[in-house]
Amino acid sequence: MSFYCPHCGIAQIITDKAFSRFANTVHVGKFAEMVPPDKAEHLHVSGTVVSCANPACMRLTVDVALSSGRYVGGYAKFIEDSTFVSKRLYPGAVGKPFPDHVPAPMFEDYQEAWSIIELSPKSSATLARRCLQGMIRDFCGIKKRTLYDEIEALRLLANEDRLPRGVDADTIEAMLALKDVGNIGAHMSEIDGVVLEVDPGEAQKLLSLIEMLFADWYVARGKRAERIAAVLKVAGAKKPKSISGDSTHREDKAEG
Ligand SMILES: [Zn+2]
Repeated sequence: MSFYCPHCGIAQIITDKAFSRFANTVHVGKFAEMVPPDKAEHLHVSGTVVSCANPACMRLTVDVALSSGRYVGGYAKFIEDSTFVSKRLYPGAVGKPFPDHVPAPMFEDYQEAWSIIELSPKSSATLARRCLQGMIRDFCGIKKRTLYDEIEALRLLANEDRLPRGVDADTIEAMLALKDVGNIGAHMSEIDGVVLEVDPGEAQKLLSLIEMLFADWYVARGKRAERIAAVLKVAGAKKPKSISGDSTHREDKAEG
């Protein structure tokens, strides 16, 4: 089974030793979530516990599910297609981990957006929108009156082939979509008297765009700077002793 650790962000293959299941069925009588017309009157509570294989992490991830259940031969069974809750119990919804290359204010907006996605997808979308605006201002150095103007400025740069390194022209339409959904959260947009809703699935898609931009922009730039620094360090160590007194590298400002 492949697994992505939400604590350290490392993808891995899970062995039996690192994976446990639990399940119990309790009699609760008839309940509204039960799948009709089955005669079951049991609630099936089940879950999985995975411990991360990364020695630097080793943290637990716990998922739980609620379904209709029944007892068969003394064993707790759940009824096919009757699961009505399936969620990660631990760690709480905090999004994916990202290295420090992502600036703290944007990362905090992103984490907060994840933490309220079920409770208030609208507020989550609003935070995702604010996060995007922060990123465009910080990474692309574009600051205009509205987010729309800022994305349009990016589109102009794309037309002139002058986008900042890492910014992909293909993502500009997706940014506009994020702006629109985020606006619904911010201003409670109404069309014909109907308050437009944002569902958790939409808010989640917006956050996956933010995740993609974090990776393409900040993480890629940070990793590149690290690689350049590592090469310069090796090059510096190989310098002849006679000039090693000068420790400043001419190429220090190459990364921008
Ligand atoms: Zn881990």
